[in-house]
Amino acid sequence: MIIGGHMSIGGGFRDAPARARDIGLDAMQVFTKNQRQWIAKPLNMEDVHGYMENMKKYDIKITVAHASYLVNLAAPDDEKFKKSIDSMLHELQRCDILNIPYLVFHPGAHMGKGEKEGLKRIVDGLNSIIDKMENINARIAIETTAGQGTNLGYKFDHIAYMLDNVSDKSKVKVCMDTCHIFAAGYELRSKEGYEKTMEEFEKMIGFENLKVVHLNDSEKSLGSRVDRHAQIGRGYIGKEGFRNILNDFRFKDIPLILETPGGEALYGEDLKMIKEILGGG
Ligand code: ZN
Ligand code: MN
Ligand code: MN
Repeated sequence: MIIGGHMSIGGGFRDAPARARDIGLDAMQVFTKNQRQWIAKPLNMEDVHGYMENMKKYDIKITVAHASYLVNLAAPDDEKFKKSIDSMLHELQRCDILNIPYLVFHPGAHMGKGEKEGLKRIVDGLNSIIDKMENINARIAIETTAGQGTNLGYKFDHIAYMLDNVSDKSKVKVCMDTCHIFAAGYELRSKEGYEKTMEEFEKMIGFENLKVVHLNDSEKSLGSRVDRHAQIGRGYIGKEGFRNILNDFRFKDIPLILETPGGEALYGEDLKMIKEILGGG
């Protein structure tokens, strides 16, 4: 298994691989820029080269990126919609400079326009991005959401709709967040419930499209539609659910990225829990 964690890049990219290795992580996720601002300074190439060297030195298998929280491809407002497209393209370019293969993003919130309109808008946004991806290597990964507020992507059929309607399927992949799908109503705890969830994922989306997993427990109950992460084994998914997830061969080669509360300071506790669960605890 490839366990990673979302790492802070406040001090630059260069030192993140060593910190990840120190914790015992084999993969990372980063924001390529401040996640709460549209504009970013160009990447510091000295920092980028140092980062690349340290990826090798500390044997980090893969880094993925998470897009800005401001991006909303379902935004009814034209200016916000256009800004979201530009921001995604800009972040994809930064991914290429950093040699990051996937940019994970939340598909968007329809803000009262309705789900059907929102889904169409997202596809339009994705297609505008794809039109300009000719020289970009990084791929977009749509994240499954908890369905909080008017956020789309909380049903596997939403993701299936997006994949089916984009102009170039090869450019769009998927990220499954375990907290989000559980909060959205997909059972993970019982053996039967877990298998049913994964069979539905396979049928609607397909594991061949799954490139990133966000490994989070949930502070809120099944179907709550509230996006609140918990540390592994300490939320509603619990050890039961993670026993199913961590023993699932379908996740063997996919980076499992922790986005648990406490971040870098507490990932060690999550890793300890993961070992305990795998050891039969
Ligand atoms: Zn996310
Ligand atoms: Mn996530
Ligand atoms: Mn979340």
